[in-house]
Amino acid sequence: MTDAVVVGSGPNGLAAALTLAASGVQVTVVEAADTIGGGTRSSALTLPGLIHDECSGFHPLAVDTPFSRAFDLEAHGLTWRWSDIEWSHPLDGGGGAAVWRSVDETAARLGPDGRRWRSLFGPLTRRFDDIAEDFLRPMLHVPRHPVKLAGFGAYSLLPAAVLARRWSGTEARALFAGVAAHAFRPFGSPASSAIGVALGTAAHRYGWPVAEGGSAAIGRVVSALLAEHGAKVETGVTVGSLDELGDPDIVMLDVAPAAAARIVGDRMPRRIARALTRYRHGPGSFKVEFAVQGGVPWTHEDSRRAGTVHVGGTFEEIAATEKDVVRGRMPERPFVLVGQQYVADPTRSRDDVHPLYTYAHVPAGYTGDATAAIEAQIERFAPGFGDRVLARHVTSTAGLEAHNRNYVGGDVVTGANDPLQLVFRPRIALDPYALGVEGVYLCSAATPPGAGAHGMCGYNAARSALGRLAR
Ligand SMILES: Cc1cc2nc3c(=O)[nH]c(=O)nc-3n(C[C@H](O)[C@H](O)[C@H](O)COP(=O)(O)OP(=O)(O)OC[C@H]3O[C@@H](n4cnc5c(N)ncnc54)[C@H](O)[C@@H]3O)c2cc1C
Repeated sequence: MTDAVVVGSGPNGLAAALTLAASGVQVTVVEAADTIGGGTRSSALTLPGLIHDECSGFHPLAVDTPFSRAFDLEAHGLTWRWSDIEWSHPLDGGGGAAVWRSVDETAARLGPDGRRWRSLFGPLTRRFDDIAEDFLRPMLHVPRHPVKLAGFGAYSLLPAAVLARRWSGTEARALFAGVAAHAFRPFGSPASSAIGVALGTAAHRYGWPVAEGGSAAIGRVVSALLAEHGAKVETGVTVGSLDELGDPDIVMLDVAPAAAARIVGDRMPRRIARALTRYRHGPGSFKVEFAVQGGVPWTHEDSRRAGTVHVGGTFEEIAATEKDVVRGRMPERPFVLVGQQYVADPTRSRDDVHPLYTYAHVPAGYTGDATAAIEAQIERFAPGFGDRVLARHVTSTAGLEAHNRNYVGGDVVTGANDPLQLVFRPRIALDPYALGVEGVYLCSAATPPGAGAHGMCGYNAARSALGRLAR
């Protein structure tokens, strides 16, 4: 019987493990942390009974993928929940803007900019299932829907600052800045629109749902399926070298590229080892969880009903702070992503006390404390916020890396989204999962299609391994 060891139990490690196990491979998953899930763990970080997502919170790209369809996670107990408003963006003076699932409903509230919101996101949303089929795979393939992919690519290749010129009002431009900032890229750089266009379209196609009971539910459901297929999971074991794994037919590494090069060691062809050690990581994040009595008193009413609130002011302001963090400078008023998962999923709160999820974009390896800057940014749009905070839990960039060694320097998206790595990660290759050693693969978010708790990197890597085995 074919056997496999999967190193790391993040969503990609688990997806790879399940894909292999369901094909009859005897799988063992080995995880360094004491709990499985990697970037999908959740726990009561502030007060008992409040469920906080330790890493990923929102799952627009996990709802409908080849992996989710192959294993029907919802039929096995995963429940997605949506808030009325996918993301919002408060502005100084009490105003702001918001994105609903419906393109028309969103556009209707953007005044003259609504027409151009609709002309961008309307067609992309209608075609998104086909577009996603192509971009959830490595880029070097014959596209199934070349025309639709080209249309998506034409917008994605633009710098965010150029694409944003289609809107003239502060509101629409700020909405786009917030979603474009998920790329952790300067808005003037080529292809810095790509992540914003993809996540914006996904918001209109699938919404930005949360997992009921916390993102950890994703790992729980996958690991229950793994157990049904006879797979084993060992936690608290850090793998330093292939030699520790015996001689399995397949090894899947759900690790950062440089770690993969270390684990495989001399057996890896030099040119591949060089490419992996040169892989570039992006800026960091600084995460603060709050327990908030009565929720956040946003002046902008719609922000109270939004799952995600992008905090950072105007397009120009966010463009400046994103440029700063990439250049290694900590901005005074950083971009802060605020997650209000409890709006969609009240099971995470206790009475009227709610778990609030926030992280600021900071320079890679930032050693300062961004807690006060995060609180000041929220207070700016929600006066009285500080008085409602009952408890805090702070995770610095070093803390994130200690929590999960894949977050090098606090880089939560496992690699800079510069134009080359956006398309070819971790290196230019027909099979980017293969590591040049028979049976050994990389399956983390450092491979296509990149960051997110969708499991598609693991699914693709496992299919590559099964394909080679069959040949
Ligand atoms: C603060 C934050 C917010 C985020 N928000 C979102 C979001 O809203 N939506 C979204 O889709 N994504 C989000 N992400 C990103 C998402 O969590 C990651 O892209 C995703 O988890 C990557 O999955 P993975 O399986 O590649 O690796 P990871 O989830 O990083 O898991 C890797 C696992 O491998 C283990 N491991 C590493 N090295 C070894 C070793 N040598 N031996 C044994 N085990 C090892 C680690 O302990 C870890 O458990 C966020 C991440 C963070 C940190």
